[in-house]
Amino acid sequence: MRVIQSTEELREALSDQESIGFVPTMGALHQGHLDLVRRAAEENRVVVASIFVNPTQFNQTEDFDNYPRQVDRDLELLRNVGCDFVFVPEVREVFPEPDRQQYDLSPVGDVLEGEERPGHFQGVASVVKRLFEIVGPHRAYFGLKDYQQYLLIKHLSESLDWGVEVIGLPTVREPDGLARSSRNQRLDKEGLRIASKLYASLQYIRDRSAGHSSEQLEKMGRAYLGAFPSIRLEYLKVVDPLTLRKPSPDDGSQPRRALLAAWISGVRLIDNIEI
Ligand code: AMP
Repeated sequence: MRVIQSTEELREALSDQESIGFVPTMGALHQGHLDLVRRAAEENRVVVASIFVNPTQFNQTEDFDNYPRQVDRDLELLRNVGCDFVFVPEVREVFPEPDRQQYDLSPVGDVLEGEERPGHFQGVASVVKRLFEIVGPHRAYFGLKDYQQYLLIKHLSESLDWGVEVIGLPTVREPDGLARSSRNQRLDKEGLRIASKLYASLQYIRDRSAGHSSEQLEKMGRAYLGAFPSIRLEYLKVVDPLTLRKPSPDDGSQPRRALLAAWISGVRLIDNIEI
């Protein structure tokens, strides 16, 4: 496995590769990331992972500063799952100059996370586009934990002809259901216990989906989480899985998706489920 910091060196190393699978990450790796790398290794000749905490997608500098960084450990984990190249660039390698392009995020990037975190998806779009340019992957792997991000990148790749097949893989969870996330490291034992209630609330509404409208399910989910005062819910929405808008019909006869964002002890977590 080669660890590369320079854009030029990576481009050169990958120039004649015919089948490149790419897994972009922000590091502090866990099983969720490693599953993406394993799948990429199954489906491609060469696997590239990147570790880059992208400043342009954080709308709060505190969140950026507190984001866990543990590159040596990450490299050790990647070595064991079939990764060939790890790209660990400085900001100036990825953005020699700021990307001034405004991406059209509609229809999937302007609701939910797009509303709650202004600028976040512009930052995501810009770093993914840039990393795709540098790596030149044939396939790129994303987790459905960040369901809206996956939909947005798939949409952008198709509508802007980025020429990359965007593949989404299921959320990897702790035994108690909590979605694995680099941010979980910032929770203490009690915080982690409470955080498992987020997925429990999604399962709760999934199990009551039939015959209930999205609004009724959202209300049930809010009531469920209301029993835990240390959870501050930002949103819980039940939507059409492709448009992320109000489902139609809205009675459980078609697939719907429930998505939420919540704060626990100053840490923002997201999760979602098909219902
Ligand atoms: P991040 O490092 O948080 O930016 O995540 C990098 C990639 O890993 C993204 O495509 C995430 O959706 C994916 N990912 C993060 N957590 C999980 C998880 N628990 N299960 C599956 N994929 C995940």
